[in-house]
Amino acid sequence: MSFISSASGESRWRGYDYWEEKKVLSYECVSDHEAEGIVKGSEIYHVKIDTEHPRKSTCDCPFAHGRRVICKHMVALYFTLYPHEAEKYHREVEAAQEAWENEQEEIEQKLIDYIRKMGKEKLRDTLLELLFDGPEWQYERFIREHLE
Ligand SMILES: [Zn+2]
Repeated sequence: MSFISSASGESRWRGYDYWEEKKVLSYECVSDHEAEGIVKGSEIYHVKIDTEHPRKSTCDCPFAHGRRVICKHMVALYFTLYPHEAEKYHREVEAAQEAWENEQEEIEQKLIDYIRKMGKEKLRDTLLELLFDGPEWQYERFIREHLE
């Protein structure tokens, strides 16, 4: 398992931010798969990462201290060592975002097409159903806008 896929989505995203904001103050490589660094978060944290055994990485922040998890400080250090990985991650996030937006647009278009084809009777029933089963604010707003 790669280092970056061992991190949660949240740690990855926040770590990318930290990398972009240059919060890794200093670092040095200890071996071909280990590095140490100082990362500025809400405090100054001492971070060690092991890219061969991600779970052996350590950080003295409250989230990671004493736990075998990958925190945003470790990700920031990792991206500092491997900037092309940061760029790759960013491209993946953008592609996923774009795919999601396209999917939402498709669903919206399907919905619009479907509603356009609905008969009057069916539209009336559906509207009543939505008003009776939907949230109260919607029901009250409809009454305010149409009956008062
Ligand atoms: Zn940390």
